[in-house]
Amino acid sequence: STGDIKMLILENINQTALSTFHKKGYQVEFYKTSLPEEELIEKIKDVHVIGIRSKTKLTANVLKHAKNLIAIGCFCIGTNQVDLEYAGEHGIAVFNSPFCNSRSVAEMTLAEIIFLSRQMGDRSMEMHQGVWNKKSAKCWEVRGKTLGIVGYGHIGSQLSVLTESLGMHVLYYDILSLMSLGNSEQVSTLDELLSNSDFVTLHVPETPETKNMISTPQLAQMKDGAYLLNNCRGSVVDIPALVEALKLGKLAGAALDVYPAEPRKNGPDFQDGLFPEIEQLKTLKNVILTPHIGGSTEEAQSAIGIEVSHTLSNYINEGTSTGAVNFPEVALRGLDWDQKNAVRVLYIHQNVPGVLKTVNQILSDHNIEKQFSDSRGNVAYLMTDISDVNLDDIKNIYEKLEGTPFRIITRILY
Ligand code: NAD
Repeated sequence: STGDIKMLILENINQTALSTFHKKGYQVEFYKTSLPEEELIEKIKDVHVIGIRSKTKLTANVLKHAKNLIAIGCFCIGTNQVDLEYAGEHGIAVFNSPFCNSRSVAEMTLAEIIFLSRQMGDRSMEMHQGVWNKKSAKCWEVRGKTLGIVGYGHIGSQLSVLTESLGMHVLYYDILSLMSLGNSEQVSTLDELLSNSDFVTLHVPETPETKNMISTPQLAQMKDGAYLLNNCRGSVVDIPALVEALKLGKLAGAALDVYPAEPRKNGPDFQDGLFPEIEQLKTLKNVILTPHIGGSTEEAQSAIGIEVSHTLSNYINEGTSTGAVNFPEVALRGLDWDQKNAVRVLYIHQNVPGVLKTVNQILSDHNIEKQFSDSRGNVAYLMTDISDVNLDDIKNIYEKLEGTPFRIITRILY
């Protein structure tokens, strides 16, 4: 039953998540920080679910002690603190929250477009140094200007709506053919976008294709006096090429929130260990530099808490693995638990021939109401709703499934 589910929740995860877990009746052990590895190993031994942020490293060495673990909730965007392959092969589904901060990034980008256009970053820095520098030369309204959005996904499309309401024209470029929001227009090549935009903003993922997507030839394609904004990933812009374009006055400014290398913790002297061009960027006019804060808002944190806690409880209570990053994504429409003595059988197994035949043989005395199976790499996940099942049947089916050679985890929900 849900009251038997034990959760270890670390790193001061948002209150919104804890209240979901309490409502569901799970047993929650909560810590404000991450735990030293030895303590983590001790605590992870008998929990069913663990919730972490970026500081808890769930290596194979830690996970091998987790005998009952069925799911990991990463209450953040990244999942590289978890050994995803090890988790997947042991039937542990990993969930995260990639899109909860889209609005935060879009709003920050919107602000930067105006900041760059009015050189507000520089004016503010001058005032902090006691310099009054009132000027209007090369300061512009954004109304009527063209914004080029590269990558029209969650963030890019949101930004499109916000900037149109300011009277900007929006062009976008994406590898997918997408529906334009408002009056925005999709263009078919990156060059077409670059040569027609006053502002170019990047919202693509980090992939081999987007590495140095903006380098010397692309910067040359841009309009003279245009601005470049990068709030997606540091690998997308060739920084030496950007420094060159800014020095030559080809671009009138830039905003960067992400870098090819980023410090691991807050504090002064962050240039240590960063890429060398940061020193040059710091000396250039009208260049806004922020420490990867695009998605960092209170709203995004609470939205992450809500989303990941719901995904986890859907997985615990219904078996739904939609959104898992390391695991086959399986879902069936809701089960009418009271009708026809129905139960849901969840069977995570090695992805080898002969499994369905064996499993359906075990289930064959019952009516299969619906069934769905999918695989990812070496792991497969079968979800089956069967009816006319009593408690003895459940025990019997469970034991038989647990006895099969390809079984990784069996659960029966009833
Ligand atoms: P998304 O997946 O919703 O959208 C990305 C879009 O880029 C998709 O429409 C995709 O088709 C398109 N795309 C992929 N490859 C492309 C290519 N080679 N050329 C053109 N288009 C391409 O992602 P999102 O949520 O909008 O996020 C975009 C980026 O922003 C991600 O890389 C994410 O990591 C980053 N991000 C940064 C912050 C921050 O704090 N600065 C916060 C959140 C997200």
